[in-house]
Amino acid sequence: QRGGDATAHPQATRPPFDVNAVRRDFPILAERVNGKPLIWLDNAATTHKPRAVIERLAAFYEHENSNIHRAAHELAARATDAYEDARQTVTRFIGARSPEEIVFVRGATEAINLVAQTFGKQQIGAGDEIIVSHLEHHANIVPWQQLAAEKGATLRVIPVDDDGQLRLDEYQKLLNSRTRLVAVTHVSNALGTVTPIAEIIRLGHAAGARVLIDGAQSVSHLRVNVAALDADFFVFSGHKVFAPTGIGVVYGKAELLETLPPWQGGGNMIADVTFEKTVFQPAPMRFEAGTGNIADAVGLGAALKYVERLGLDHIAAYEHGLLEYATAGLKTVPGLRLIGTAREKTSVLSFVLPGYRTEEVGHALNEEGIAVRSGHHCAQPILRRFGLEATVRPSLAFYNTCAEIDTLIGVVSRLAHARR
Ligand code: PLP
Repeated sequence: QRGGDATAHPQATRPPFDVNAVRRDFPILAERVNGKPLIWLDNAATTHKPRAVIERLAAFYEHENSNIHRAAHELAARATDAYEDARQTVTRFIGARSPEEIVFVRGATEAINLVAQTFGKQQIGAGDEIIVSHLEHHANIVPWQQLAAEKGATLRVIPVDDDGQLRLDEYQKLLNSRTRLVAVTHVSNALGTVTPIAEIIRLGHAAGARVLIDGAQSVSHLRVNVAALDADFFVFSGHKVFAPTGIGVVYGKAELLETLPPWQGGGNMIADVTFEKTVFQPAPMRFEAGTGNIADAVGLGAALKYVERLGLDHIAAYEHGLLEYATAGLKTVPGLRLIGTAREKTSVLSFVLPGYRTEEVGHALNEEGIAVRSGHHCAQPILRRFGLEATVRPSLAFYNTCAEIDTLIGVVSRLAHARR
């Protein structure tokens, strides 16, 4: 028997994770859509914000708002402290060694472009090779393609197996002395595959390459320690980890960032300017030209503290149960084809339903208050690998429940039976 409260499913709820208490932290989850309670299963696109984040933003604008680093007055000191405290929180959250390794940017897309425009421009030349994987989001393909075209470098692609997992054997064959950079996602936004990044980094380093990990889909679900992983770069977006939009992070190893040129020029990133010459700040300021997104960086700090309070291990255990429950449920739907069946998965379900265009499924779900993404998920190469242009993608967060999954599966089953 499906249905009922999430706490009725012991496999999905382990104390002390109390999903009903957590849900009360997210005001938007009380919204109604088409007369039905909102069921937010579009977490891979963006996540909702807990009250702790919303209130932190309001407090910043009510008590601390100022530009940072530049003035002697009280509010500048408060805003600078809040901004730098957020940088400390990010440092701790991803296991970086020091806040100098954390650069604030707009999001994962800008983060990858920053690395392409600094490390890429400096270190990648004609005949060099950049390796990405077949799973990548367009944000981790296009900047490398652009750089390769500009420099005369070559983009190589790690293939996936039929379950949507990376082929490490093929990866090893691609690595060679011309490989300058390996840029791979930690979790596929289209399939939910968790890739073996520790091994990818180790093998990349053994070949003399630097490794960038796209953590956009992982940091809200899995504990990450960039120092233990020995990642050279690690990027993510705040809005996918319960923080505001418009803020994201580049982690770069300190010794690496120090050697890189700036990408944008302007205020904040300089130590001294004359018309003849500019002396740049050290990292991370060197990469933060102009007035940044101060308030949303502070919001990111609040979001990460919130996640820390819940505990990523509890979150991962709860979400694992939810993913298994949803996967088992979708498998009962006649004709439904699940895409992405790797053993290591988190949070994303991707499927097609025979007889329906994906947007028809999306609209039918919306009628019932359920938000999912239908389309190519900015990851066309991996969908085409499975012969598809689009899928329906419910994606989970720790505030989702088995009861919500039941509603999803009820609608999809009804559609499936209607066209059999
Ligand atoms: N990388 C992955 C794996 C993603 O899922 C996304 C967004 O969906 C991005 C990068 C780009 O993130 P943003 O649009 O926040 O810059």
